[in-house]
Amino acid sequence: MVFMMRPALTCSCRPASVMPSWARLLCWVVMLTVAMGQTALAQTLLRDTEIEETLDRYAHPIIQAAGLPPESVEIHLIGDKQINAFVTAGRNMYFNTGLILKAETPNELKGVIAHETGHIAAGHIARSDQGIKAAMQPLLLTMGLGVLAAAAGRPDAAIGLLGSAQYFGTLSYLRYSRNQESAADQAGMRYLEATEQSGDGLVAFFERFRFQEVMSEAKRYPYFRTHPLSSARIAALRSRVAASNIQAKADSPEDVMALKMMQAKIEGFLNPPGQTFAKYRDTVVTLPGRYARAIAFYQNAETEKALAMITDLINDQPFNAYFWELKGQVLLEAGRADEAIAAHQRSVDLMPEAPLLRINLAQAQIVSKDPQWEDEALANLQHALAREKDNSFAWYQLSILYDRQDKDGEARLASAESRYYAGDLKQALVFAMRAREHLTRGTPEWRRAADIVLASEPTKGDIQALGEQ
Ligand SMILES: [Zn+2]
Repeated sequence: MVFMMRPALTCSCRPASVMPSWARLLCWVVMLTVAMGQTALAQTLLRDTEIEETLDRYAHPIIQAAGLPPESVEIHLIGDKQINAFVTAGRNMYFNTGLILKAETPNELKGVIAHETGHIAAGHIARSDQGIKAAMQPLLLTMGLGVLAAAAGRPDAAIGLLGSAQYFGTLSYLRYSRNQESAADQAGMRYLEATEQSGDGLVAFFERFRFQEVMSEAKRYPYFRTHPLSSARIAALRSRVAASNIQAKADSPEDVMALKMMQAKIEGFLNPPGQTFAKYRDTVVTLPGRYARAIAFYQNAETEKALAMITDLINDQPFNAYFWELKGQVLLEAGRADEAIAAHQRSVDLMPEAPLLRINLAQAQIVSKDPQWEDEALANLQHALAREKDNSFAWYQLSILYDRQDKDGEARLASAESRYYAGDLKQALVFAMRAREHLTRGTPEWRRAADIVLASEPTKGDIQALGEQ
């Protein structure tokens, strides 16, 4: 997701020790934002285990049908109300939250995934890669979905942080020709057929936005600016679906529920609570409705109501790791670190391989300041970083932990890693140079610090200083 941070949300009004966890995190984000030279606005990719798992589950059979290893395609979430999805080289697929919210069935979303996979498999992106990379790199900040909303400070500010257009300029790099579009449509249809899924969803999705054809370019959803939609194209797709003689499977009840939960979560976190309460009234007793309301209560700082609803959800589904994750988050921000640790631990027990859940747990353990958790926090962060080496936030947590243990070299090295993976090469270089002064010569850490210096656009003077060290 693309996320817009406002520099006005600074954190200098209170000493760090009395700041709630979200405010400290916000402080970190603002520092990063400023350091990255994006004092106006920066964009953010959203991270969320539940949404990532769902999209991966939808996408993997389709990617496999395209002859690609499913793990080779990485799916990212951009916090943006506009309808958009696109791919960049390196087999990265991006979905706006806006597109996910507009999907009426999993089959529609899978249709878009199949179409985008068609672009990847056909290599439609290769020549635009440098452009998009250069344009997007400095704009992206990565944050947890919940953290993102909390960082907005006031829940109703979250909406103001979303949806604008800074990266749209980059989309011109991604414009496809009509030939490429129809090739991606046809390829997508093949993948859907190979996985016994209907192409109806893709047709329905396009049909619903067909009125976009008559709009001026500027008013169109970004998706239809880069993926031109024509009557002929829809007609070709429709006749292909009609001619298909596969026995398409209906969306499974699990996939349908996963879509609704994903949508409820996005709305709960990214819309103002009032909007969520209006859509999901208290007479709504569905699981997604209760999920959205629980999140909205939390966003509204009604901690007890949020916790009561989450407890109900957990009573219904005690093995749902995401309910425990939400409970941990609410408790941590309410300053109840010990209870938050227990809840996050439960989510980790249920999904031990999920890096983001480990990072949540480690964060709660670090925030508690209880030395009994230090070893476990370290192990959790190392576990997460072994799977996501580029997780800037995990490195940041690690730097706090090392700092507390007076491991000066390791703390600075972790800060260097954090800045490096956030794209802030300037600070990465400064921290890596300082780390070298404290680390034991010849150790892997000492060498790693030198690697970061060399990868962070050093000046001749920096390289000379490195040599003298
Ligand atoms: Zn396309």
